[in-house]
Amino acid sequence: MDKQLQLLKEMTDVNAPAGFEQPMTQFMKGLFENDGIKTIQDNTGSIFGVKEAASNHSIMLLGHLDEIGFMVTEITEKGFIKFTNLGSWSGTVMTSQKVTILTRKGEVRGIIGSKPPHVLPADERNKVNPDAMFIDIGTANREETLNAGVSVGDAITPYSEFEVMANPNYLLAKAFDNRFGCSAAYEVMKDIKHNITLYSGAVTQEETLSRGAITAANLLKPSLAIAIDVCICSNTPGMEQSGQAKMGEGPVILLSDAWNIGHVSFRRYVEQIAQENEIKVQHDYLTGGYTDAGHVAVSNNGVPAITISVPTRYIHSNVSMMHREDYNGAVMLLKKVVESLDDAAVERIIKQEI
Ligand SMILES: [Zn+2]
Repeated sequence: MDKQLQLLKEMTDVNAPAGFEQPMTQFMKGLFENDGIKTIQDNTGSIFGVKEAASNHSIMLLGHLDEIGFMVTEITEKGFIKFTNLGSWSGTVMTSQKVTILTRKGEVRGIIGSKPPHVLPADERNKVNPDAMFIDIGTANREETLNAGVSVGDAITPYSEFEVMANPNYLLAKAFDNRFGCSAAYEVMKDIKHNITLYSGAVTQEETLSRGAITAANLLKPSLAIAIDVCICSNTPGMEQSGQAKMGEGPVILLSDAWNIGHVSFRRYVEQIAQENEIKVQHDYLTGGYTDAGHVAVSNNGVPAITISVPTRYIHSNVSMMHREDYNGAVMLLKKVVESLDDAAVERIIKQEI
């Protein structure tokens, strides 16, 4: 495994769901410090590498540290675990999946239990009821589950292994949403030649209404912002929709999502940089769902904000699949955009002269 794959594996392996991001904050801090890059953190755990310039303006690149997961709400007499969601899940992808419970004593493996078809009435076979779901860690009763270290309030993450697929550009992992964004935010900083101050990092609690983006934007007060997050992938069976992004066809500029209309001047500027550097980009839009761009856009007195994305299959489940060339394209585009900006260009974007 080369260095980049190793980084993606290590990042996606970190267990840190929304509200429990501390292990990812520490991981990012370690990466920046190893490279001698100064960091800044807000009180929620959002963390950024800082590269200062003698400029009036700054840009914030933000991935998000958190992943979707669950939280323990109850341990039954028989030792099973009831849970609530951290972030949005569909019941259809939850049953029979392996999970990791993050207890004070360490990690405990569990599975979300399911009934075999043998005992399911015909009308229940194709239905899911998340409220009836439970996690089984392989214990006989409540006492054994407590002895294993599980407590009410413990976080739970999906469990799956990082794998390189048949075509080695296709990568499988849990939590590409949004460790890809964390990794891209880190990789962009390497050897970058910038004329304006750069904050590049990742925020907490995107999956639970984008809270860390608010506190981080208040702290950094950026002039421009780019959220780095996954988008929906339309080239799998049943997902084909014209005008939407396809895996393997390059990074994506989001036109809009439920909370943000990509700032028109900034978007056009980014499109121009992509063209000048022969980086093939796609467009996409989300009618449901959002990224951190929406909250940064309305922070302070308004921040031109867009989202740069990669189409990712099977997000918000135990596994997600991303194309390595889309990832590299996104890193390249972010780098070229940051390197091209100076105070005059930022002002033209803010005044919408582009
Ligand atoms: Zn997500």
